[in-house]
Amino acid sequence: MSILIKQVRLNDKAVDVYIRGNQIRKIGACSDQTAETVLDGTDKAILPTFHNAHTHAAMAYMRSYADDLELHTWLNDHVWPLEARVTEEDVYNGARLACLEMIKSGATFFNDMYWFWHSTARAVEEMGLRAAISAVFIDFDDPQKAKEQMEQNQRLFEERGRYSDRIIFQIGPHAIYTVSEKSLRWAAEFAAEHGLMIHTHLAETEKEVADCVKKHGIRPVAYLDSIGFLGSNVTAAHCICLEPEEMELLAERGVKALHCPASNMKLCSGKFRFTEAQAAGLQVAVGTDGAASNNNLDMGEEIKLAALLEKHSTGNPTALPAETAWHAGTRAGAEMFGLNSGVITEGALADCMLVDLNNERLAPGHHLIADMVYSADSSCIDTVICDGNILMQDRKVDGEEEIIEKAHEYREKFGR
Ligand SMILES: [Zn+2]
Repeated sequence: MSILIKQVRLNDKAVDVYIRGNQIRKIGACSDQTAETVLDGTDKAILPTFHNAHTHAAMAYMRSYADDLELHTWLNDHVWPLEARVTEEDVYNGARLACLEMIKSGATFFNDMYWFWHSTARAVEEMGLRAAISAVFIDFDDPQKAKEQMEQNQRLFEERGRYSDRIIFQIGPHAIYTVSEKSLRWAAEFAAEHGLMIHTHLAETEKEVADCVKKHGIRPVAYLDSIGFLGSNVTAAHCICLEPEEMELLAERGVKALHCPASNMKLCSGKFRFTEAQAAGLQVAVGTDGAASNNNLDMGEEIKLAALLEKHSTGNPTALPAETAWHAGTRAGAEMFGLNSGVITEGALADCMLVDLNNERLAPGHHLIADMVYSADSSCIDTVICDGNILMQDRKVDGEEEIIEKAHEYREKFGR
């Protein structure tokens, strides 16, 4: 497969971009290149795609199912009871809906944690995106459950080869309040042994911190450090209730923080202190969290919220500028997973989008990145390419009608 994008804007210059296989091979004058697909880049700009650093994709089927609730009420009384009824097929369909939404809003990678690992992997494989997928690991201190979860992860690890290298298998211990110490230690050891990433939630609420102090006598970061859990392979969602020295320790261990402003604001979990975290040396990427607590998976919206929230809460309008927010939504997530994406350069993965410079939200066009962070919505995104394949063109994704039709069945199935 080869794609030639002719005369597209890149850093304010019109260039040709030649893609062969899954890589950007050449940027510049490519008139000597022939390609199977030629795209006219006139009045369009090429940008890296969004990398959604934290989500539970399949929860798209729970969009607007239970809103305006406190986190633990929302989880205990609504999310978990519904999830107890969810089947493998439901997760597959939910994940397809999420993939469709992410493609249409310009994301080609997501860092996921959910039940029925294969269902999400299947959806991602078919829809053409990239994802780091973990099977949510929860044992509630029950040794039998812990044993089952460990065995399941071992099995999934063996089975990961069924999929292309767009699917990254990782371990997903949910959080310190849902996973036993023994299982957390196992997760760290298993991941270290096999070179895997670990995806978890950390310091999301004051309640989590207070419960941890009560149970272990120390705060969550110290607890995880004491059991050898923290390392550069750990991505931790939320990281809200952190003391400055905890940020420093996380940075020292190489832990990556995943900032989910919409979900944190909606559930009033608190606020991740982006500027402080960066100053402490923490790597930070932005994610949407699941659609049940957002309620969409639109990374463009999320980076705008991240920027506005930081300015508003610090009282400093220069905090989290557009370029930083853009990086946190694109390249930062790629770097965490060692992906050469989130950037438009020769040799990078061909994960990119074309935006329509004639869209009213991108006019007059003083500063494209500022436009993308503060003004654009997904209607500006015309074409999305992942791994050298066109996933959306003229805002059309193959099979989207069937996915939406299927999603509508969930109104009936899970309706109250
Ligand atoms: Zn989450």
